[in-house]
Amino acid sequence: MYWNANIECMAVEDLRKLQYRSFKSLVNDLYSFNRFYHDKMKSAGVHPDDMQSLDDVGKLPFMYKEDLRENYPTKMFSVPNKEIVRFHASSGTSGKPTVMGYTQNDLAYWTEALARSLTSIGIGSEDILQVSYGYGLFTGGLGLHYGAEKVGASVVPTSTGSTERQLELMQDLDVTAIACTPSYLMHMSHVAGKMGIDFRRDTCLKKAVLGAEPWTESMRAKIESSMGIRAYDIYGTSEQAGPMFTECEERNGIHIGGDIMYVEILDPDTGEPLENGEKGEMVVTMLKKEALPIVRFRVKDISSLMDGECPCGRTSPRISRITGRSDDMLIIRGINVFPSQIEYTLMRIPQIGDQYMIELTRDGALDDIRIQVEIKPEFFSDKVEDMVRLRAHIESELKKYLNVAAMVELKAPGELPRFEGKAKRVVDKRMI
Ligand SMILES: [Zn+2]
Repeated sequence: MYWNANIECMAVEDLRKLQYRSFKSLVNDLYSFNRFYHDKMKSAGVHPDDMQSLDDVGKLPFMYKEDLRENYPTKMFSVPNKEIVRFHASSGTSGKPTVMGYTQNDLAYWTEALARSLTSIGIGSEDILQVSYGYGLFTGGLGLHYGAEKVGASVVPTSTGSTERQLELMQDLDVTAIACTPSYLMHMSHVAGKMGIDFRRDTCLKKAVLGAEPWTESMRAKIESSMGIRAYDIYGTSEQAGPMFTECEERNGIHIGGDIMYVEILDPDTGEPLENGEKGEMVVTMLKKEALPIVRFRVKDISSLMDGECPCGRTSPRISRITGRSDDMLIIRGINVFPSQIEYTLMRIPQIGDQYMIELTRDGALDDIRIQVEIKPEFFSDKVEDMVRLRAHIESELKKYLNVAAMVELKAPGELPRFEGKAKRVVDKRMI
């Protein structure tokens, strides 16, 4: 079953021609109408006339998340406000969040991409999809919501939280599929266990669409065997629109709508293109976006372009499961956290010395972050109540700035390991 066979099964050469046409007109428009991209192209010495083939994408300068922050909130937009029909914003990582804007066409392409994806995993009008992604500024909830309605599925817009109520609704409404983060589904599974709910016996749940945080094949195996469902990987960052591309039933890579997004895989250090099958940093150009153009955006996700045809018959390009990030951003319970922010927060507290360690674990279902900090000798005390008060203060500061609850452990001066050269302060045990 295809949603849009013309595009999804288009001959590879035809797709490249289509991509080139979209790319060419995109670059022309940006050069003429978008101050940010115009200046960038000028200073890189490239002109739209230099774009003679799709490979000339490589001549254009990169764009970074920092560009969006520096141009907060809407300075990179290509259209006037009256054409914007929705905003989303990503969680603030270094002070300011980034703001996404969508025109009617932007929303239509996002929804189209999701309609293709959901159809490719067999979710359609017979299905009842519980959307347990956050609704609101985060793109997951509303994205999946409209994609599912497009294919005629019945949406149960539960958003996140109230897990027991969600489980009751899942049973009462005969929910057949759920979309959420893998860690939330695992959390649900734990809560269900406590409530005496057996997914196989007590629910109609057959499928899960999981993403918005890194997860592994071993996690998939665990979810599938414990819940008796099939789990599919979904991909898409807020800059690209939101979650939009999934695996098909073959589950052999994520199909990318080639008419919507052009993917390059580059060596993260040299910026040179890599061969199909080689893992590198994904750089994306959105071919259809109107409000907020995204050209050669360094997503920082590590993936590869996959060779060969997919047995499902779709010819659209496939990328392999995202295995990490080329920078050090941590995704904790779906929230982006940079170690530098943690450091920044800690270093503002006068009692803390300059040594700290961050440890991430996944206890059952949810991510836990534990931060060990060394106290300066002059502030270190044997009085338990003083230390308890200090610890509570540090935890509340972290919560305030990171939006994530962290467990803090106070250490005596000199207790934490020292590093020669580059300090390794983050230990991520979640993927082991
Ligand atoms: Zn396929």
